[in-house]
Amino acid sequence: MISGGALKFGTDSAFQLELQRRVDEYFQVTGRRRRDCWEMYLKTAILLAGLAVTYLLLVFVAHAWWQSVPLAVLLGLAAAGIGFNIQHDGGHQAYSDHPWINKLAAMTLDLVGGSSYLWHYKHVVIHHTYVNVTGYDSDLNLGIFGRVTPHQRRLTFHRWQYLYLWPLYGFLAIRWQLVDDFRRLIAGRIGSHRIRRPTGWDLAFLVAGKVTFFACAFGVPMLLHPVNVVLIHYVITAVVLGTTLAVVFQVAHCVEEAAFPLPSARTGRLERAWAVHQTETTVDFARHSRVVAWLLGGLNFQIEHHLFPRISHVNYPAISKLVEQACRDFGVAYTEHRSFRDGVIAHFRWLRRMGRPNTNCLLRQPGTAASV
Ligand SMILES: [Zn+2]
Repeated sequence: MISGGALKFGTDSAFQLELQRRVDEYFQVTGRRRRDCWEMYLKTAILLAGLAVTYLLLVFVAHAWWQSVPLAVLLGLAAAGIGFNIQHDGGHQAYSDHPWINKLAAMTLDLVGGSSYLWHYKHVVIHHTYVNVTGYDSDLNLGIFGRVTPHQRRLTFHRWQYLYLWPLYGFLAIRWQLVDDFRRLIAGRIGSHRIRRPTGWDLAFLVAGKVTFFACAFGVPMLLHPVNVVLIHYVITAVVLGTTLAVVFQVAHCVEEAAFPLPSARTGRLERAWAVHQTETTVDFARHSRVVAWLLGGLNFQIEHHLFPRISHVNYPAISKLVEQACRDFGVAYTEHRSFRDGVIAHFRWLRRMGRPNTNCLLRQPGTAASV
């Protein structure tokens, strides 16, 4: 587990220690591996082959819109699958015990247009440490367009955010690929957090990643097709990718069952201990669907992921039973939606609620169990 940062958490670590003990015991008794699981290597081969075949068909074979448009949609889904499954485990060092394998897996993000260097700070350091803490977790910051926590300022037009935010989610990947990475690099910060600018090999990999992506997305296709055709297919692919990434992550944290705690004004400390905080700010979905777990890289087991980010996601279904039981034993809220659809509806409801005036009084208090 990782824990803590500049913001301090509650000090009662009994839940975390007992949970760690039960999970350690599970791996000891079953002999299963935490990382380097054969399922991951097989999945990596399938997804990378899927991305390559789809890209090659789209750029070199398709000759009519009814072939190229479905291929562009598939390419967006394949890129999302690589992000969820390979890059995410690699970036968390949950793929392998060998750092270079994790590095290679993490760099599949560069292949699909995002910098793995910057993602490490944005996701692993900032989001995972400060999850759902307004002003700290930069994933909650949608600019003026959205209010997703009760502690953000409400603007009049947020009343309609439950309608207009969905199409805007589609632009996430385009902004990320073309604007945000460069802006963060120049500013040397993500949200309110300062980051170390890349040097040496980190910088070389970052530049090589961007050059490879731009060559694959624009350079090579423009040698064979008109510019407007390339741009239209880029937008289709990126909108599918952006919408998929945004919705999967929002369903895990921005729903009415998740807590949005703030540090105490007096002590500057969050009331709940680190592991309790991670559990209560996160919601699982579709835990019984093997298809969803395979496609989303275990991100439907977000509670388990936030508690054990360095364990490969193929172990999450088994671990989730231990986590759920430990939560019951310690009176910690463990929340899930039965299906992905239920999770999406919960996010829709949350957006509508956050867009209405006077929502602060409806807050769920940390530690109040809520199950769906
Ligand atoms: Zn993560």
